[in-house]
Amino acid sequence: MRGGWIPCFSRPFNDWEVEVVERLLLTLQGKKLVAGLEDKVLWNASKNGIFFVKSLYNTLDSSCAVLFPWSIIWSSCVPTKVGFFAWEVSWGKVLTQDQLKRRGWILANRCFLCCDEEKTINHILVHCPKTRILWDLVFSLFGVNWVLPLTVRDTLLGWSASFVDKKHGKTWRTALLCLFWTVWKERNRIVFDNEVLSIQRMKNSFVCNLFS
Ligand SMILES: [Zn+2]
Repeated sequence: MRGGWIPCFSRPFNDWEVEVVERLLLTLQGKKLVAGLEDKVLWNASKNGIFFVKSLYNTLDSSCAVLFPWSIIWSSCVPTKVGFFAWEVSWGKVLTQDQLKRRGWILANRCFLCCDEEKTINHILVHCPKTRILWDLVFSLFGVNWVLPLTVRDTLLGWSASFVDKKHGKTWRTALLCLFWTVWKERNRIVFDNEVLSIQRMKNSFVCNLFS
């Protein structure tokens, strides 16, 4: 059938349509039609063919499971506001300028830290050259070499306690959220308090937050 003509269509099937028809034929293959039996709707997700909300929930739960760094975000070692900030960031819900532009605001989008790149949360917290100074500090404190992923969420997902020895595992896991929080607070000082970026203040703040 691939590439062929179907009498009721004036054009050949494209690849997607061919695939759909092939899948349909595959589904129908081996099925028997019973004459005289009335058609009825069956819910495939439950054994008896009857719809239950629970079966729908189970289907959604298993097919749409999204990897999410719950354990590192909801840690008892970090204050709730810090965990909540990381949770917002993971879902891309922090109101950075790129988010405001998506909501129709007309803004010149510049990172407040490096004044160079467009400001997205992935840039501010992971890739900004000014933030990188803190990353370098963290990696040198724990003696870790790691290539940072593209997004905040991937960074959270990849932040494994196995990077360091058991004794420092808890501090290592906390360091990530602490870094995010410190950078965000520094960014807010610049935006809302008209302060100038201070790398030294950011470093001090990070170390104090981490060990407090
Ligand atoms: Zn920047």
